[in-house]
Amino acid sequence: MSNTPDTLADTIVTRFPPSPTGYLHVGGARTALFNWLYARHTGGKMVLRIEDTDTARSTQASVDAIFEALEWLGIDWDDGPYYQTQRFDLYKAHIDQLVASGDAYFCTCTAEEIEAMRERAKASGDKPRYDGTCRERNLSPSTDAVVRFKAPLTGTTVVPDTVKGNIVFQNNELDDFIICRSDGTPTYNFVVVVDDITMGINTVIRGDDHVMNTPKQILLYNALGAALPTYAHVPMVLGNDRTRLSKRHGAMSVTAYRDMGFLPQAVLNYLVRLGWSHGDQEFFTVAELIEKFGLDSIGKSAGIFDADKLQALNGDHIQASAAADLVPHLLPFMAAEGYSAEAGPYLEAVIKTLKPRSKTLVEMAQAAHFYYNDPIVYEEKAAKKFLKAAALEPVQLLTEKLKASESFEEKALEQVFTAVMAETGLKLGKIAQPVRVALTGTTVSPGIFEVIAVLGRERVITRLTAALSYIAALPEG
Ligand code: GLU
Repeated sequence: MSNTPDTLADTIVTRFPPSPTGYLHVGGARTALFNWLYARHTGGKMVLRIEDTDTARSTQASVDAIFEALEWLGIDWDDGPYYQTQRFDLYKAHIDQLVASGDAYFCTCTAEEIEAMRERAKASGDKPRYDGTCRERNLSPSTDAVVRFKAPLTGTTVVPDTVKGNIVFQNNELDDFIICRSDGTPTYNFVVVVDDITMGINTVIRGDDHVMNTPKQILLYNALGAALPTYAHVPMVLGNDRTRLSKRHGAMSVTAYRDMGFLPQAVLNYLVRLGWSHGDQEFFTVAELIEKFGLDSIGKSAGIFDADKLQALNGDHIQASAAADLVPHLLPFMAAEGYSAEAGPYLEAVIKTLKPRSKTLVEMAQAAHFYYNDPIVYEEKAAKKFLKAAALEPVQLLTEKLKASESFEEKALEQVFTAVMAETGLKLGKIAQPVRVALTGTTVSPGIFEVIAVLGRERVITRLTAALSYIAALPEG
């Protein structure tokens, strides 16, 4: 048995098969990403399949949420979406095929009988398993019969895995597992195999929580006469305390990161590093990932999810993005902060000053508020400390000189400040801090020359004049 069968077409065909029982979580998104990157890297295809046979837990809202998350991440697919609930005829035909070939049989053992088998196995120290009562009985279909797969009783089944190497399972540990319930619905491992075969999937990249299912699936491939896909079982994502990833470790839903002001390319970059590496490189563009991704560099140890690292990487991606590209991402966050901005050169100039200092778009939208906030509202502490009588003279002088200055380029602004320093004998800080509070309302902002250059003559003069009136109106003392 080979995992690189030459009967398969050369084109790599991967799949992402989410179960729509909730939002797309971080682990699921990583699986989608790996399959997508591998398909794109090899010039292959990715199939999207919605595994909705668990009708009690599957919802349309979850399907929609998964589509929304994939779209936001920029992960697309070439075939599908297929829905398993629409493929029951196909599954039925394959069950019939296995019964006809003698690889599956009807079983009418009752729940009580199965329970008794388990008890007996436990009592004799064996693994609880079906004891084969109906295996050779040649029963006909009936309303109370399930269909069981006739699993080999001896020997081994080997999962050839690109990440983990060969994983060997003893066949006597495998059950004659059910492939079709008495109500006619096929079971999970069976439909996955029928789908993967009929969809031409030749590369299965998934979480290693599916390793235990794989020997059963391999037996089904063999019985159906199909070539095995290449398997890559990726270690699970864990929290930084090395326990299974859960809400305790931060938001689990991909779109929650969108809503917290993360860029999709930063989330992709972070997800890929939870299990794949390229030397010690941390920052990747999507194009670079497509160029470099391969199964050979998937790691053997669990990826550790660290929300702080994700945030730092998001900051790097914000910094690396062109201001114009950030505009559509940022606008909704500005609206959420309660002010509106328009796309255009002013907003792009604003973004340029904030890119190096923003880890998220939420932070950026908060920090950009002063550029749009007329009249400016002063932070109480900042005003108390800097907008006082001592600031009157330098701010007045600066205002005069700015009015007279032909240029508002940073170079010219520097000269204006130097002149005010010379005339007043004050250090830059003594002038810049009151000016900063006058222009931004706070003591922390991008560089003062940048701020003045971006705000532009009209806003600057208006705000400085307002600050002068504010100081003049202060009660004396
Ligand atoms: N539907 C399964 C899941 O969401 C994936 C099955 C598979 O990859 O074979 O975990």
